[in-house]
Amino acid sequence: MEIRKVGVVGCGTMGSGICEIVARAGFDVVVHEISDVALEHGKERIQRSVDRAVERGKSDRAEADALIARIATTTSLADLGGCDLIIEAVPEHLDLKKEVFAALDEVAGPETIFATNTSSLPVIDMAVATKRPDRVVGFHFFNPAQVMKLVELVHTVATDPEVLESAKLFAEGLGKTAVACRDRAGFIANLLLFPYLNSATRMYDQGYASREDIDASMKLGCGHPMGPLELLDLIGLDSSYEICEALWRQFRDDQDAPAPLLKQYVVAGYLGRKSGRGFYRYEHPESPKIVDGVTPDGGVTGSPFSTIGVVGTGLMASGIAEVAAKAGNEVILRGRSEASIKKAKAAVQKSLDKAVSRGKLDQANADEILGRITTTLEFSDLAECDVVVEAVAEDLAIKTTIFEELDRATKPECVLATTTSSLSVVDLAAVTGRPDKVLGLHFFNPAPIMKLVEVVRTVATTQNVVETCTSWIDAIGKHPVQCRDRAGFIVNFLLFPYLNDAVRMHEEGYGSPEDIDAAMKLGCGHPMGPFELMDIVGLDVTHAILDSLHEEFRERRYAPAPLLEHMVRAGYLGRKSGRGFYDYAR
Ligand code: NAD
Repeated sequence: MEIRKVGVVGCGTMGSGICEIVARAGFDVVVHEISDVALEHGKERIQRSVDRAVERGKSDRAEADALIARIATTTSLADLGGCDLIIEAVPEHLDLKKEVFAALDEVAGPETIFATNTSSLPVIDMAVATKRPDRVVGFHFFNPAQVMKLVELVHTVATDPEVLESAKLFAEGLGKTAVACRDRAGFIANLLLFPYLNSATRMYDQGYASREDIDASMKLGCGHPMGPLELLDLIGLDSSYEICEALWRQFRDDQDAPAPLLKQYVVAGYLGRKSGRGFYRYEHPESPKIVDGVTPDGGVTGSPFSTIGVVGTGLMASGIAEVAAKAGNEVILRGRSEASIKKAKAAVQKSLDKAVSRGKLDQANADEILGRITTTLEFSDLAECDVVVEAVAEDLAIKTTIFEELDRATKPECVLATTTSSLSVVDLAAVTGRPDKVLGLHFFNPAPIMKLVEVVRTVATTQNVVETCTSWIDAIGKHPVQCRDRAGFIVNFLLFPYLNDAVRMHEEGYGSPEDIDAAMKLGCGHPMGPFELMDIVGLDVTHAILDSLHEEFRERRYAPAPLLEHMVRAGYLGRKSGRGFYDYAR
């Protein structure tokens, strides 16, 4: 069926974006709202967005005017009578949506296709509110609809395949990629996204880390375009609350129940950007500009430490030695054998050579940096260090022995730090005589490139040590975020359960790794889908981190998915073994 004229019901955050892209693709649009005031707001929103596209040179004034002229507005549903497709984008309440569809059924022609932009509600419930359940689909755009490439195309048990095909062609005509999904709460992207957003909300509510640090962690640690709390503000906290509710109703998993803080914000009228206040305060409603954000110093000049010890000779150790030496610190790297020390120094040399060949560093500078790194086999050579960063194998017994050695070898005021990504920092603090000066400094791999460092304080670490180390991380050009000593810290705690959920979703036959990866890249702007990411991280590493999260929290969601477990046993570890969720030509 050919679609020429499109109706849109609701001209809020999503409805206005949908009107714009549909009109931009050349279709005539009629948009319906509950009142003239709401229509005015919607029209202003569309105008602002279209003007922005002109300012940015993405379209010219004549095109913009023609686009606006293709959008007719109405407060009477009867005016949608002549449309071939009607997309509903009213608030996320099932009764309201059912009412809208029942009313549309009375005014629209028998061939008209109905689409709902619901993020989480069962499409079948809306379909059966009409006399044309076979002509009702879910057509789930992502916010902002003008930008995000994904449309989840949801079919119910009643959907006619021809209707689905027409909807798919229409999506492609808008320049979108349609991923087919079954009618299950959250479809693909939100089913993976919202438990993660909900966890981040709880993490903030528990005072585990600040809003800025949670958001910075996911942007810098995972390359997400927005942190979870900023994203919730963009999506709207009322819609987010309803989506979590819908997930909970369908799956009855306590983890999906909306975090209490979400409800409090919604009741208080803090709906996110659209109301000018959510997790953050904005310049005015609809503005993206945060006015109460706290940014880290960034301006710290001079390192509070001069001599840095690094224990270990692997990738992390050599990376950290390089970063500290680059920032002007004297570095003493301690390894177990001449051969491993040589390897670590060669790794630094190689990385510096690369920087020189790319013109980022001159040779004299590179030589100076390398000259600042001395190596040793003896712990006693670390005696004068101000801080020692341990970066050896992720094994509690090995790390414990090293902390005992460090406690004996270093001066009493020396700070002892571990780069562990999954062990409890306090276990290491407890074997020293200076638990107040022990903390976690969790660098990300590769350390010379990744900006983020999680500064982890235990119950025993003094605030002074935390602040001094935060300043040091700042001084060596990294972005420090502070959190408490709990499995997964910020990034892994939020990331790995999400990866595990993706494996479960695939295991249940709900989506292929390709579709799920496409949904998260195109719908959420993630640089990589969960399966691509697990293949890089290693399925064995993913499994081990989930195990440690499960061990600490004992929640079912963190227990490694059976498929992941089997793949690890089969030796399908990801890129490093040539096969993971994808096959890699060797
Ligand atoms: P919103 O609150 O910004 O907009 C909803 C609009 O619908 C408002 O302008 C309201 O006046 C209007 N409305 C209410 N009742 C109506 C009626 N009976 N007839 C016509 N208009 C009516 O909400 P939103 O964020 O645009 O969400 C709309 C839908 O899109 C929801 O189902 C939501 O789950 C879904 N969605 C939202 C996002 C997001 O990120 N916000 C992304 C994808 C899908």
